Amino acid sequence: MEGILVGALGLGLLTAWLWPKWRLRRALAQPLPAAQVAILARNVAQYGGMDEAQRRRLQRMVQQFLHEKKFVGCAGLDVTDEMRVTIAGQACLLLLGRVADTGKPDIYPTLDLILVYPGAFLVPRKQVDVSGVVTEERQDLLGESWGDGRVILSWDHVRRAGHVESAGHNVVLHEFAHQLDSESGNTNGAPYLGSSERYRSWSEVLTRDYANLRHEAMWGMQGVLDHYGATNPAEFFAVATESFFEQPHQLAARHPALYDEFLKYYRIDPRQWQVAPPPPVVEPPSYGVVYGQWR
Ligand SMILES: [Zn+2]
Repeated sequence: MEGILVGALGLGLLTAWLWPKWRLRRALAQPLPAAQVAILARNVAQYGGMDEAQRRRLQRMVQQFLHEKKFVGCAGLDVTDEMRVTIAGQACLLLLGRVADTGKPDIYPTLDLILVYPGAFLVPRKQVDVSGVVTEERQDLLGESWGDGRVILSWDHVRRAGHVESAGHNVVLHEFAHQLDSESGNTNGAPYLGSSERYRSWSEVLTRDYANLRHEAMWGMQGVLDHYGATNPAEFFAVATESFFEQPHQLAARHPALYDEFLKYYRIDPRQWQVAPPPPVVEPPSYGVVYGQWR
């Protein structure tokens, strides 16, 4: 009797382990439908520059993402295929070089749920100061990433992010960079890097460029990176990730050491997908002091 029970339990555990794998294999058996491929081409700016192997890999990752993650519309929004495929495509861009083409990569394994609002959403925040005074604020947010398996996005801003006019901003890349960052156990600007040597080099380069961005933000000087990255090291990593994928030539020119660290981490060079912009016109300096040059 005991043997039968142990056998039944073992079979149950085996089925629970095999069942999701079987369902995933079945979901990946068919290619991504043509209508969904067209959405990737339309809303993921980098897709147009990819070679055929990269496109196929991204399509497969999108299929897995759509199979594994649940999308929920908020504030009355009906989540459409356009929204799901656009979000999945941009999110999987961060993993494109990081996974071998095994067909079964881990895609944000701790993420379950993507909440989508039609536009910027208001979140009540409570802050308590040392004297116990509670201040309620309502902040407009474009996106939010939680360590408990949730990402929240404004569709209005996601839609704009896949296109040229977004000028380096991409809320999906930003929030999913936070997801990668949190995989190391702390959301602190250092994702899982593997070796202590890699952490040392990462810390040296990012600490210096973060300090430089804080300086730029303080003095109102605009470089490649958005000043929001000066908020804290986690935001710096997320903002720099947006630039790495959206403005790779500019980032590589202005922050070569940072670009090199990101090349090693993301294992892909986004410059291959974009035509290099013309070099900026440098005005010859007039006589006297040239202000605003601090480096
Ligand atoms: Zn952020």
